[in-house]
Amino acid sequence: MAAELQAASKQQQGRPPFELLAGCAVQSAERVGGGGGCGSGGAHWQLRGSRAGRAAAAVPGPPPEVQEDLGSYDAVILADAMPLVPGSAGHVSGIEAASTSLAQLARSVQAVAAQPRFALMVAFHQPLRGVPFDFASVEHSGGDAGGGGGGGKSCGSCGCGSCGTGSGGAFALVACNSSKPGRPGSGCGDSSSTGSSAGSSSSGSGDALECWVAISTAQWAWELLDRYPLVGPDGRHNPQTEQYRAAVAEELLADFRDLMAPYVQGYALPQPAYCYAQRWGRAFITEPLGAEFLFLPAQKLALCGDVAMGSGVENAWRSGRAAGEAVGRMLRAAAAS
Ligand SMILES: Cc1cc2nc3c(=O)[nH]c(=O)nc-3n(C[C@H](O)[C@H](O)[C@H](O)COP(=O)(O)OP(=O)(O)OC[C@H]3O[C@@H](n4cnc5c(N)ncnc54)[C@H](O)[C@@H]3O)c2cc1C
Repeated sequence: MAAELQAASKQQQGRPPFELLAGCAVQSAERVGGGGGCGSGGAHWQLRGSRAGRAAAAVPGPPPEVQEDLGSYDAVILADAMPLVPGSAGHVSGIEAASTSLAQLARSVQAVAAQPRFALMVAFHQPLRGVPFDFASVEHSGGDAGGGGGGGKSCGSCGCGSCGTGSGGAFALVACNSSKPGRPGSGCGDSSSTGSSAGSSSSGSGDALECWVAISTAQWAWELLDRYPLVGPDGRHNPQTEQYRAAVAEELLADFRDLMAPYVQGYALPQPAYCYAQRWGRAFITEPLGAEFLFLPAQKLALCGDVAMGSGVENAWRSGRAAGEAVGRMLRAAAAS
């Protein structure tokens, strides 16, 4: 989901009661005025960050004094746990300092168990002949991809015996993205698709590409993180630079070649037209907070998303909707009083 940290703006005369600020990276937050306790009339959230978007958050944020002013708000809904996790790409400095309740919430969020994953996207100019599936859940990998979509021709257990990385397998699932509904062309892998122009073009070259996505096991992600850490020696978020992604992509591509080797007999896996790696430091929440959403009315702050109810788009959507309704009710009640 592409939900960004959302904020419900102050109701101002002649303007809509709510305003959605999208595409911003919020990097610091301060609760100002009103004293912060119950009935803290006049208190509001002062947000700062970058209007250049989340890409800008890939590097450690500049100090608050040189961040852009993103405005003043009655209430804030955190659509992600990252703002409360120091050292993460989305950490919002100062937020947990706003109150002891928020500091407690931040501690709870940091204690939530989450699994990391790495994803590889790789595209080829030609369909991979001989691959008898367009989706494979790799059972011997010791990891659950969590929420991975089924359908298509699935081998269920690949049983190829060559997915090993010495630690039980690199990938939990592999899917031919080009075989998903609505993608240009259809049919992946299986030789029956030979000759069709399957695939989506990610390279911008205009070629019909066959595109595969592979999600690592949690175990393999932990091992990669030893070498490509989330947090640098200074305790700050280690950004996914081009160099970082290229090094991880090279390793994952080698794993992908190993996984596919038994199927693409008789020819070598071609050089990819496109190859990209993505780190997900908290990909799957394994022990969520266990509430539909969390709400600190005195601070006018809610937290929603998979951290509350558990991984999966449905959980995240239900949580976000419930949090939005609760904050909306509170703001309407305040406006009416
Ligand atoms: C590789 C992978 C594959 C998955 N496959 C599936 C699947 O097939 N089916 C399924 O149901 N689930 C799947 N999931 C899980 C699913 O994606 C998540 O459970 C879901 O996206 C959680 O939604 P969310 O809104 O809680 O958080 P997110 O989708 O993570 O959204 C949070 C948003 O907040 C933004 N944000 C964070 N900090 C800031 C900040 N400081 N300023 C501004 N914005 C900020 C982030 O950029 C992000 O856009 C998958 C997850 C991964 C990692």
